[in-house]
Amino acid sequence: MVGFIGLGIMGSGMARNLLEKGHRLVVWNRTRAKMDPLVEAGAEPADSPREVAERADVVMICVSDTPDVEAVLHGDDGILAGLSDGKLVVDHSTISPSATLTFASAVEEKGARWLDAPVSGGSEGAQRGTLSIMVGGDEASFQRALPYFEAYGTTVVHVGGQGAGQMVKLVNQVLVVVNQLAVSEALLLAQAGRLDLRKTLDAVKGGAAGSWMLANRGPQMIERDWRPGFTIDLQEKDLRLVLEAADELAVPLPGTALVFQMYRALQRRGLGLEGNHALVKALEEMCGLRVGGEDPPASER
Ligand code: NAP
Repeated sequence: MVGFIGLGIMGSGMARNLLEKGHRLVVWNRTRAKMDPLVEAGAEPADSPREVAERADVVMICVSDTPDVEAVLHGDDGILAGLSDGKLVVDHSTISPSATLTFASAVEEKGARWLDAPVSGGSEGAQRGTLSIMVGGDEASFQRALPYFEAYGTTVVHVGGQGAGQMVKLVNQVLVVVNQLAVSEALLLAQAGRLDLRKTLDAVKGGAAGSWMLANRGPQMIERDWRPGFTIDLQEKDLRLVLEAADELAVPLPGTALVFQMYRALQRRGLGLEGNHALVKALEEMCGLRVGGEDPPASER
């Protein structure tokens, strides 16, 4: 039996893929209503993270941030209360690499094992089962979890020991946000140059400038569809983790620091629940231009 804790945008897609690949699944989510579609599809509901840990051999977590992993692990009815010898806990959330080591120790004190296995590939990747998964921990635990990872991941790489998965994820986030800035600046220039934005995307996306962000979020930006695959609030959280780790390692990341500040500005405007591709709005605000959409006001053309 496999367990899944945290059925948000990512966890719900990953859990559904586990069911569709034939795995027996027990689920828990803080907001209970989010369990209903999975229970209808055949998952068994649990009353607490503790119950998931009691019933499942392998327990997956996918919650928002470091304090939230702490809550589902250490809370009154948390995972640690239900863990026993030989179980495996896998954390798919993106959280602090240093806190990860503390959580791993607490799990191992119960005789269980820990993998940190953050993911990349957006809500689309979780739904289609095409995520990239970067895994930190020991080889035996990695091999044990691999059949589950293959239910929702196509690129699964064992990158090192505990904490290494989270560190690779932070590297991934530097690439994501600096690329998102490039896509935003490029579309703003195309708009100012009165180009057909869709044809512009078609012309450049297969060449050296192509990227996942351009292909997936570019069209959404042109449509001004700000529904989140990944929210600004979570993106800002990830950049905070990146900049904390970079500070500890004394590495300058000026581009990432700039994008962090732009996301902060958008949060101040109340846009934290929009998708991370709404980064372009920070640039639009600076210059009065507006990318895409059907009918921008004349003053913003
Ligand atoms: P989300 O849709 O906001 O879902 C967050 C989940 O965490 C929900 O199930 C939420 O429960 C649960 N949660 C939050 N705080 C909790 C707490 N204190 N106790 C118990 N449950 C708690 O977020 P998401 O997009 O699925 O992201 C989940 C993780 O995956 C994050 O670490 C994120 O950085 C990472 N990630 C996301 C993406 C993406 O594109 N979305 C891509 C890669 C990685 P409720 O339903 O009760 O709120």
